[in-house]
Amino acid sequence: MVLWWILGFALLGSLGAVSAAAAFLLFPKRVRERLVPLLVSYATGTLLAAGVIGLLPRAIEQGGLTTSLRALLAGFLVFFVLERLLIWRHCHAESPCEVHGTTGSLILVGDALHNFVDGVVIAAAFLSSVPLGIGTGIAVLAHELPQEVGDFALLLDSGFSRSRALLWNLLSGAATIPGAILAYTTLGSLQGIMGPVLGLAAASFIYIGLADLVPGLHRRIGPDPGFAQFLLMLAGIGTILGLQLSLG
Ligand SMILES: [Zn+2]
Repeated sequence: MVLWWILGFALLGSLGAVSAAAAFLLFPKRVRERLVPLLVSYATGTLLAAGVIGLLPRAIEQGGLTTSLRALLAGFLVFFVLERLLIWRHCHAESPCEVHGTTGSLILVGDALHNFVDGVVIAAAFLSSVPLGIGTGIAVLAHELPQEVGDFALLLDSGFSRSRALLWNLLSGAATIPGAILAYTTLGSLQGIMGPVLGLAAASFIYIGLADLVPGLHRRIGPDPGFAQFLLMLAGIGTILGLQLSLG
């Protein structure tokens, strides 16, 4: 039963997000440029809440306080190094950034690795409990949607045709599924390491929220979008909190 939950959310957060992002490209660029920061703000709220009040407390419950916080700290370092090595970035700007301007294939490799980790996080959360998994899956879906919109724009900018960009994005998005299945099969029999794994999962969400998404929001200085962004961040937090209160 848990496997179906895991596969459902892995599909939703990967192929579902890519398909929704492809549909999103039908909107005029002006509309997309206004909507994407709002989606990113909502995603930031869900990631921070799912990491801090969802995954981290469960890591502490299952692995103890010291071990979980060490795993969290180690996670921040691991994700920093991975990001530097593989240019794994959440770039939501619609114009090529310093890194992404170079080549479309690098975006795809980094994205595939990131999606693989998302799959591991989804499976670890569901193996811990179904309500934690649902909150985690929603946080994955929320940040993947604007990320895929950004990736589409960057691939098109680096010369991919629409159908090629869709195909490659679907392929790199599909990496969530092997990540989820691998974590399901290995973690199922290794309950002893669930605490540290959930600590790493929390680190992944907090890192993406604070290190990748927030700086992008700060860069957008327009006719004061700050208040709307803050409200949407609160809405993201409210979604996770509401789920926790209703699902237990
Ligand atoms: Zn992701």
